[in-house]
Amino acid sequence: MQSSHILIIGAGATGLIAAHILSKAGKKVTVLEARNRCGGRIHTLNYELFFKNAELGAEFVHGDLPVTLNLLREAGISYHSASGEMWHYKDGKFGQEGEFKDWDKVVSKLGELKADISIKDFLDKEFPGDEHKELRAAVIRFVSGYDTADPARASSFALREEWQNEDEGAQHRVEGGYGVMVKYLEDECKHAGAEIYLNSIVREIQWQPGKVKVVIDDGTKFEASQVLIALPLGVLQADKSETGAITFAPEIEEQNNAVRSMGFGSIIKVLLEFDEPFWEDKETEKLAGTSLKNMGFILSEEAIPTWWTQTPQHTPVLTGWLGGLPAFEKRDASPEEILQLSLQSISNIFKRSVDKLKAKLVAYDVANWTADPFTRGSYAYDTIEAATSRKLLNEPIDNTIFFSGEYLYEGPAMGTVEAALTSGIGVAEKMLN
Ligand SMILES: Cc1cc2nc3c(=O)[nH]c(=O)nc-3n(C[C@H](O)[C@H](O)[C@H](O)COP(=O)(O)OP(=O)(O)OC[C@H]3O[C@@H](n4cnc5c(N)ncnc54)[C@H](O)[C@@H]3O)c2cc1C
Repeated sequence: MQSSHILIIGAGATGLIAAHILSKAGKKVTVLEARNRCGGRIHTLNYELFFKNAELGAEFVHGDLPVTLNLLREAGISYHSASGEMWHYKDGKFGQEGEFKDWDKVVSKLGELKADISIKDFLDKEFPGDEHKELRAAVIRFVSGYDTADPARASSFALREEWQNEDEGAQHRVEGGYGVMVKYLEDECKHAGAEIYLNSIVREIQWQPGKVKVVIDDGTKFEASQVLIALPLGVLQADKSETGAITFAPEIEEQNNAVRSMGFGSIIKVLLEFDEPFWEDKETEKLAGTSLKNMGFILSEEAIPTWWTQTPQHTPVLTGWLGGLPAFEKRDASPEEILQLSLQSISNIFKRSVDKLKAKLVAYDVANWTADPFTRGSYAYDTIEAATSRKLLNEPIDNTIFFSGEYLYEGPAMGTVEAALTSGIGVAEKMLN
C-alpha cells in the first residue's frame, strides 16, 4: 500500500495543474493515469516525417483566454494566430458569407424564452413546418458540429448565453502544440515531488471521511486523506462494467445522479496529410471561382462536414471534424471506414476523384474519442439540469472526495482546455484551504 496526502485520478490538463499547485504547496501528491501518457484529450503528435505537431485532440486557444495564456507565458511557450477565411460549400457553390442568414432571428427568439427547454423543442415550437426546415437543420448542424451536443438534450438558455456572447476575437495555436504545455506541467509536477503513475487504470475508490483507498486494475492499492477525481464526464457516466469506469464504496448516489444529468458530446477528428495543399492550386481556384489559399475552415453538408487547414501556415494537412449525434452513430466504425467517408466528402467538395485523393494521401489518423474508453466522448455541454449538477459536484464530499474537469467550469469558455485548467486551479485552492 502506497500512501500520500492527495491522490489525483487522471493526468489531463485539470489533474496536472492541480498536482502542480498542490505539490508546490508541499503536499505529497500521487497521480494515477490510465493511459501510457499524460495529457488526456490533449494529444500532440510529434512524428518526424509527417503530422509534425498535429493535434489529435485540443488544437485552438479559443480567444484571449487568461488562464491558458498566463500558463503559456509562465512556461515560456509561444503561440501564434490561427486566422484564416471561413468558407462554406453547398450545392456545388463556395461562399464566404455567414452560414445562414436567419441566425439573428433565432437569437432574438431565444431572447424571449422564459423557461428553459431543449434547443430541439425550441426550434420545433418557434420555427415549425416546412418553411423553416432549412433553418432548423442549420441550427442543429451547428449544435452538433460546434458544441458536439445532442439537440434533444442541449439547453436553450446555455446556447443563448453562448451565442449572445460569442467571442469573435483572435484564435491561437500553441507553438509546437498543446503537448508542450502538458510536458511543462508534467515536469513541474515531478520537480515539486509529485509522483505520476502511468498505465494505472483506477477501478474502485473505497472511502470514509478523511481517508481513501484507491484500487487500480492490477490490484495495487493507494491510500491518502483526500482524492481528486480528474476524469472526463464520459468516464464517470459509463456503465460500471465498462473499461475505465469507477465504483465508489460506499456509493455516492447524489453525485452519480448529477453526473448522469449532464451532457457529454461526441466527436471523431480526422487528420489527412497530402503531398501538397491542393486546395491552394489553380484547379481549385478555377472550381471555386476564386483563390482558397487563405481558407481556414470549410463547412459543408457532407458526411464529414467540417474541414480546416493550418492557415496562416500553408501545410498539406486537412483536419476533418464530425461532431454530435452523427459522431455517436459512427463510434463503432473502423478507421478505414472513416477514412473512406472523409475522402468521399473532400472529393464531393473539391471535385477530385477518391482514387486521385488516395494517390496524394501521405498519412492519415482517425481520433475516435467517442470510442476511446478513457474519454468516451468529446466535451461537456449544458443540459437543462447542468447548472444545478455542477454546483453539487463542485462541493467536496466530507472534505475527502473532490471533482474537477472541464465539465465543472462556470465561465464562458465551456468544454475547453481553459475550462479544465480553471477548474483544476479552483479545486487545488479549495484543497489547500
Ligand atoms: C477532438 C477534440 C478537440 C478539442 N479541441 C479543443 C480545442 O481546440 N481547444 C480547446 O480549448 N479544447 C478543445 N477540446 C477540449 C479539451 O481537450 C478538453 O476540455 C480538456 O483537455 C479536458 O481536460 P480534462 O483534464 O478535464 O480531461 P482529460 O484531458 O480527458 O483528462 C482526464 C484523464 O483521465 C484519464 N482516465 C480516464 N479514465 C481513467 C481511469 N479509470 N483511471 C485513471 N485515469 C483515467 C484519461 O486517460 C485522461 O488522461 C477538444 C477535445 C477533443 C476531444
